[in-house]
Amino acid sequence: MRTESPQIQNFIDGQFTEPTGGKYLDNIEPATGKPYSHLADSDARDVDAAAAAAEKAFVDWSKKPAVERSKLLLRVADLIERDLEKLARAESVDTGKPLSLARTLDIPRAASNFRFFATAILHTESEAHITDNVAFNYTLRQPRGIAGLISPWNLPLYLLSWKIAPAIAVGNTAIAKPSELTPMTAYMLCEIVREAGLPSGVLNVVHGTGPNVGAVITAHSKINTISFTGGTVTGRKVAEACAPLFKKVSLELGGKNPNIVFADANLDAAIAGSLRSSFANQGQICLCGSRVFVERSAYKDFVAHFIEKASQLKMGDPLDEKTDQGAIASKTQLEKIKFYVDLAQKEGGTVALGGKAPELINERCHDGYFFQPTVITGLPVSCRTNREEIFGPVVTVTPFDSEEEVIKYANDCDYGLASSVWTQNLTRAHRVAEQINTGTVWVNCWLVRDLRVPFGGMKQSGVGREGGEEALRFFTEPKNVCIAK
Ligand code: NAD
Repeated sequence: MRTESPQIQNFIDGQFTEPTGGKYLDNIEPATGKPYSHLADSDARDVDAAAAAAEKAFVDWSKKPAVERSKLLLRVADLIERDLEKLARAESVDTGKPLSLARTLDIPRAASNFRFFATAILHTESEAHITDNVAFNYTLRQPRGIAGLISPWNLPLYLLSWKIAPAIAVGNTAIAKPSELTPMTAYMLCEIVREAGLPSGVLNVVHGTGPNVGAVITAHSKINTISFTGGTVTGRKVAEACAPLFKKVSLELGGKNPNIVFADANLDAAIAGSLRSSFANQGQICLCGSRVFVERSAYKDFVAHFIEKASQLKMGDPLDEKTDQGAIASKTQLEKIKFYVDLAQKEGGTVALGGKAPELINERCHDGYFFQPTVITGLPVSCRTNREEIFGPVVTVTPFDSEEEVIKYANDCDYGLASSVWTQNLTRAHRVAEQINTGTVWVNCWLVRDLRVPFGGMKQSGVGREGGEEALRFFTEPKNVCIAK
């Protein structure tokens, strides 16, 4: 397997292919700020070629017995596990995330995604409805055709495989477009699916920019199903492109997630959990809890200990085994983070920890994109810093006095992706969970992800749900067959 390649090519009809226009983009390693490979800068002609291959492959793939599709996907999962170390290293280099995180979260989850949907399709059920003495109805759920799968840079293989696996498991063919910032593991996955024996054209990967490839996929007449994960602004463009063509669309978008700590919580657990939810992957997980609310009687204690623990996180070269905090994924993202830390201060906030780039990490990382874990206090709930997604290692901490007040704070936001609640009062946990407008509410935990549960956001965090049965339904077309008695 190639782990480092000067040229990341497209994968169309089972073959690695040059982009039609012959152009390539630099692929930058965030830890060094330097290009280390190149990726195909594709255009509409490449998407057309992928669509033709996917259309041809659909004929046989959609009719293959589920058990055969399942076997192939299980083989893909096994091969991902076999190559775990190479894939984890590639993901770390490509994204700037600590190697230890890629090894324990990203790559194992990619294997689980394939295994989960490979077995899920063996256990599906179909509804039946008896219409009195008139008729008998049953529901067929059939593959829809070609799925366009567009993903972001923060969890590259984790999120792309979360789309590819259900899409092809149920008999669709797919055209995947990874983020142009982090294309490497999608490229390596193509070698894996080829080795696993997936028929040509079932999975096609077209690399390139959002406007040149992503927008072409969303507007393409042959691609009728779009699963998109990314920012809310891009999500709106995707929705606008798909609406007039009546495409089936799933949108997993941004977040500004509340993390609520009641005074009756186990504070050690709440601090440890909040540390993860604030700074895992340098805060670049859509589910990170960037707004921390702490009940006033526990506020001082929480802030002191939280800051103490956050200051102990080890920033370093992502490839160093001891590193907790790696690099920010791109220069643009780093600039955005700096902008919001400046804004927070203009809005009256106090930088209680961090707030700037760290001292030199090592010579190799001299020009890398690093930013310290940052804690901001003293901001009003309704300011821009508390309403807009930053997507970096920056959290605000705000005190509250009552349950009603903090529910209002949590919901006073355009986003509604996820939240965490820390309390030992079970009745309160249920009561608060019911009232918070987010697609996921974690109680006394964070980022526990059972692949069977519905996943997605409310409000500007998205439309639709992925995961388990929801994904199987999204990628199929239900058909009512009504037979007279
Ligand atoms: P982005 O929206 O900039 O890009 C996402 C993908 O869309 C990329 O592959 C990009 O090339 C493509 N794209 C860009 N313009 C397009 C267009 N006009 N049409 C079609 N595709 C286009 O997002 P990003 O910066 O890569 O990722 C960060 C964002 O993703 C954050 O907002 C984060 O919250 C969100 N995110 C959400 C979830 C979730 O499950 N809800 C998960 C991870 C990340």
